[in-house]
Amino acid sequence: MRLRARIATLLGTSILVMTAGAVPAAAHPDPPVDGATGGGDAYFPAAGNGGYDVAHYDLDLGYTPQTRALTAHADVTATATADLRSFSLDLRDLDVTSVTVDGTPTSYTHEGGELVVTPAEPLSEGTEFVVGVDYGGTTGQPEDATGALYGWISFADGAFVANEPEGASTWFPVNDTPADKATYSFEIDVPEGTVAIANGVPGEPRTADGRTTYAWEADDPQASYLATASTGNYVVTDDTGPGGLPIINAVDADLDQAAAGAVLATQPAMIEYFETVFGPYPFGSFGAIVDDDEEAGYALETQTRPIYSGVPDESTVAHELAHQWFGNKITPALWKDIWLNEGFATYAEWLWEESTGGRTPQQQFDEAFAAPAGDPFWTVPPGDPGAPALFDAAVYSRGAMALQALRVTIGDDAFTQVLRQWADRDEFVPVGTDDLRTLAEEVSDQDLAAFFQAWLYTPAKPAAPTPA
Ligand SMILES: [Zn+2]
Repeated sequence: MRLRARIATLLGTSILVMTAGAVPAAAHPDPPVDGATGGGDAYFPAAGNGGYDVAHYDLDLGYTPQTRALTAHADVTATATADLRSFSLDLRDLDVTSVTVDGTPTSYTHEGGELVVTPAEPLSEGTEFVVGVDYGGTTGQPEDATGALYGWISFADGAFVANEPEGASTWFPVNDTPADKATYSFEIDVPEGTVAIANGVPGEPRTADGRTTYAWEADDPQASYLATASTGNYVVTDDTGPGGLPIINAVDADLDQAAAGAVLATQPAMIEYFETVFGPYPFGSFGAIVDDDEEAGYALETQTRPIYSGVPDESTVAHELAHQWFGNKITPALWKDIWLNEGFATYAEWLWEESTGGRTPQQQFDEAFAAPAGDPFWTVPPGDPGAPALFDAAVYSRGAMALQALRVTIGDDAFTQVLRQWADRDEFVPVGTDDLRTLAEEVSDQDLAAFFQAWLYTPAKPAAPTPA
């Protein structure tokens, strides 16, 4: 994400209590359990669920911008990771009219954003099942814990859909945690003349009786906060990246098409450059959704197709592109580690600027490091900023500074290897900051515990880095 303005408010915290019980040997098998209604993230305790792993979301969305009416059906394919008597999906602000499991109508409750489903028969661990949900309602303009618009944000000509951190539940039933990636299929039915853009690659639109259905397939597994199905008055153009990579851009017709086109035309060269630094572009397509919704006020790295609330500048495009490696492919399990997304994406902006003849990363570091020790900037530790400061400037800027400081400490060669090996990790294994420290220590053969403590977890200005 890249912000224009954010207002911090307070979010409650919760404590996850786990108990270990004695297991009687050779007794009756354990009875089936009720899957947890939270995913275990201290910042957002209600987001995500337990007891299953989603493989695929098949979303059928009928939307009319003029009335903000959403009529939808979701088929969620998942595998039970425990013997389940019931399980939960996150779904807020919309009404559920029926739920099936493997096609059989089943009982459910829907309160406080939790859709709790109780199949007629318990689901055994390892069983794949499909839960079908009919739902809908009148959409609005949801706000996150900091007061920023997010999720399915309704505007006059369509919806700007950007979910970070846990706004996916404002438009589909979901295991809303970045630790559960899945593939997505979208069918988005809108009034003829409105265009729908989602992640991945499009099918052929079908028009009948004054409505058009757009199909999109996202075959690269993605976290729920990176799903989008945005609608509007878009002009769609195609471009091609390295190796024939399909690039699909959508720009709101009310915007300056030449200005938007000029900045989006840099995308193929940016991909080519970042491939030389980070390794191969991780997904099967790319592009941009450029909307005229300044009220939203930010950009988000929605997978394969970042969304912008206005015509972006070049460094913002570089930032959202870099997230395709850092955040989208390599994904933190917990929101406290968001600097692993934003610090890397900001550092990538610095690299892009240098590659185009601008300031070096060290010059960018020096400018930011000039903030005096008494500046409030230094009071937010980017490695655990707290939910109200999830998008604080320190997460971005001090995060990027931490990477430049690491580069100075371990040297250019080791740092280059760290970037490449970090980007080369398994996309299905969520990461934490300790994983980065372990990698940097292995590559550099240095003990970096004090370095990480100073740069990421201490609410004070760190000492200037020195080569080891
Ligand atoms: Zn970002």
